[in-house]
Amino acid sequence: MRGDRGDRGPDRPDRACADGAHRLEARGDRRTGSLTLRPGDGPAADRQVRIYEVGPRDGLQNESHRIPTEGKLEFIRLLAAAGLTEIEATSFVRPSAIPQLADADQVVRGLERRPGLRYPVLVPNERGMTRAEAAGASALAVFTAASDAFTEHNIGLTIAESLAAFRPVLVRATELGWWRRAYVSTAFGCPYLGRIAPRAAIEVALRLVELGAEEICFGDTIGVAVPDQVEELTELAIAAGLVPERIAYHFHDTRGTALANVAAGLRAGIRTFDASTGGTGGCPYAPGAAGNLATEDLVYFLDASGWIHGVRLAGVLDAARFIAGLLGRPLASKVGQAGGWDPTTGAALPRP
Ligand code: MG
Repeated sequence: MRGDRGDRGPDRPDRACADGAHRLEARGDRRTGSLTLRPGDGPAADRQVRIYEVGPRDGLQNESHRIPTEGKLEFIRLLAAAGLTEIEATSFVRPSAIPQLADADQVVRGLERRPGLRYPVLVPNERGMTRAEAAGASALAVFTAASDAFTEHNIGLTIAESLAAFRPVLVRATELGWWRRAYVSTAFGCPYLGRIAPRAAIEVALRLVELGAEEICFGDTIGVAVPDQVEELTELAIAAGLVPERIAYHFHDTRGTALANVAAGLRAGIRTFDASTGGTGGCPYAPGAAGNLATEDLVYFLDASGWIHGVRLAGVLDAARFIAGLLGRPLASKVGQAGGWDPTTGAALPRP
C-alpha cells in the first residue's frame, strides 16, 4: 500500500514493551490525589491524542443493513477528509462469517492512498493474511480476548489457540514491515464470565507483544468499565512493562461510561482511543444498546478539553450523516443529534 504510513513515526519508541517503564510515576500518583494532568500541563507532544477510527470495520461488521463497496469507500474518503489518519478499513475473516465485510479485497484495492494515511485491516489467520497481502494492505490488527469463554464463542478458539494462529501472521507482517496492532477484548468484563481481572488482560497483552504486536488495544467489549478500572488496568499494564505510547483503549458506550473512561485513560497517560463515526456498531450482547464510542462525541470532548488531534468535527459529522443515510437510520451519537457548540457565539455547530 504505497503512501500508507508503514513506519511508526519518529516520536514513538521501537517496542510496545520496555522493562521497568513506569511512566505514570512521572505524571503523578492517583493514590495520593496528584494525578491531575491537564492538556496544558505538559509539552505539546503530550497534548497530542490519536483517534483510531474503527467505523468501516468494527462499526459496519455489526450492522445488518448491507452497504455496497462504493459506499464503504466513500465513507472512508469522508473520514480521511475529516482529518482521520488511522482508519481500520475492513476485515479478512471468512466472508461467510461476516457477510457485510465479504468485499474486503475490493475495499482495500479501492482505498485512496496518501502519505500519512494508515488503513489497518483485521487479519484472523494465515489465509486472511494471504488475501490481505494480495489486496495491497500494509497494516493489520489481530483480535483475541482476555477470557477463553469469549474467544471460544466469538472465534471458536481458546486464547492460546488464537495466539498460535496469529504467530505466523505477525511474523509475516513483521517481515513485510507492516504496522501491527493486537486487540485484547473483554479486558474489563466478559458476557460469559463476568468481571475480568486486569492481570488476565495484561498477560494476553504481553504474549501479543512477544509475538510482534506494536500496539495493544484493550477493549471494553460489552461496555461495563468505569474510570477507576481504566486507571487500575493502565497502572498495572505499565508496571508490567507495557509502554503507554503503545497502549490504546477501545471503549463502548453501552452504559454511558465511554467518555468518562477516555478521561481516565488520559489521566493515566494513554493517548490513543478508538471510536466509530456515527456510533455505528451497536452492542451484540445488549440488543438495541449503544456500542462503539462515536467519533464525533470523542472529538467534541477532546476539542472542548484542549487536546490536539487533527480531526475536524464538521468533517466527522459529514461522514456520520453519510453512513447513517446508507444505513437508513438517524445518528446514534449525542453530538450527531445536538451538533457541536461554538463557545464564542453559543450556537450549535454545525446543525445535523
Ligand atoms: Mg467495538
